[in-house]
Amino acid sequence: MALGLAVGGILNVLIPAGVLPETLAQGLSYYLIDGLFDTVGQIFVRSLKLMVVPLVFVSLLCGTASLGNDAKMGRLASKSIGLYMLTTGVAISLALFIALLIQPGLGIDLAVASEFSAKDAPPLKTTLINIFPSNPVAAMADGQILQVIVFAILMGIAIAHCGKSGERVAAFFDDLNSVIMRMVMLLMQLAPIGIFCLIAKLFAGLGIGVIVSLGAYFFAVVLALLLHCFGTYSLLLRAMTGLSPRRFFVNMRAPMAFAFSTASSGATMPVTLRAVTDNVGVDNSVASFTVPLGATINMDGTAIMQGVATVFIAQAYNIDLGLEAYLMVILMATLASIGTAAVPGVGLVMLVMVLNQVGLPVEGIGLIIGVDRLLDMCRTAVNVAGDGAVSTVVAHSEGLHDRGRFERENIEAADDATA
Ligand code: ASP
Repeated sequence: MALGLAVGGILNVLIPAGVLPETLAQGLSYYLIDGLFDTVGQIFVRSLKLMVVPLVFVSLLCGTASLGNDAKMGRLASKSIGLYMLTTGVAISLALFIALLIQPGLGIDLAVASEFSAKDAPPLKTTLINIFPSNPVAAMADGQILQVIVFAILMGIAIAHCGKSGERVAAFFDDLNSVIMRMVMLLMQLAPIGIFCLIAKLFAGLGIGVIVSLGAYFFAVVLALLLHCFGTYSLLLRAMTGLSPRRFFVNMRAPMAFAFSTASSGATMPVTLRAVTDNVGVDNSVASFTVPLGATINMDGTAIMQGVATVFIAQAYNIDLGLEAYLMVILMATLASIGTAAVPGVGLVMLVMVLNQVGLPVEGIGLIIGVDRLLDMCRTAVNVAGDGAVSTVVAHSEGLHDRGRFERENIEAADDATA
């Protein structure tokens, strides 16, 4: 990651500066940046995404079948959904507080343009109905993770209730699960190259200059992300499990780095699942449910960006938001975080829904779009850390957390031994 940042940063300065001969500069940007780096980076992200549907389906099915108890599954679901919503609510409140303190949009003074077009957010009813698949193959083909989750849980419960034939099917899926996990491990070995290319390509095109002009906004989002990630999650872990937050973040460093490089919690999911089970010590019966669910509905980092962005846009247009509007922002950003797809940039699209709800001009998004990719990388890392923290708390409360694994020093050595 650091090497990619350095190479990308150097190319970003050298190519437009005219230091290099023109043909060399063109060749570098055509063959190296848009050619090699982009191709390898995209192939890497595609191969990660490739694993998502098989991994979620098979590992969740195995997890549900091994729980073997519907009441336990229900408890797991309500605990994790409750905690996911709670942490998102805290995240957005923290973001609003910090944004009101820093006042990032003060003095920008924009007038509201008379016309702006806004897309309508889908109604709640449709969102709810869409969680339930009418065709499991279509759900998998379209990568509809919530639908895949529902199908896998249903099949897992049926397996648990099917006696001998259920055991045979479960044994097959257990084996398949090991094979898929091994595929993920193979891909992980390519990670350094993939991440280098992604980051180098990104920073070669991304002028750091934009950060300066939107400095206060950028700083407010990053500060809120840091406080939430290392403050809220640490408190949560300490209070509910007594585990060391420092060790938690050390164990979660791989998925957080992947999330930062890909800006997609969906693509990072295979890595998250592996780290949460192997390094953090969460039992697969919990992690196989909480991690894909979290990657789909839990986006604390995204909610933080939306909170700060709302305040920023309101200030830039000199619009006063009352207490009621802020409460509405908390509610809407929590809902938007559920509806945000786990891919790059969608958080910004969902911001439209929040802005609409409180009557702010949607074209304000144009103000912050320049720094959004960088912030997307940071907030996706927080989204993924949140999935890990909630999974740990839920597993601990169910007695399904392996403390020995969590406290094991030198994860890499242990990984090599497993491999
Ligand atoms: N990139 C984020 C994620 O995948 C979503 C967003 O905030 O745009 O988690």
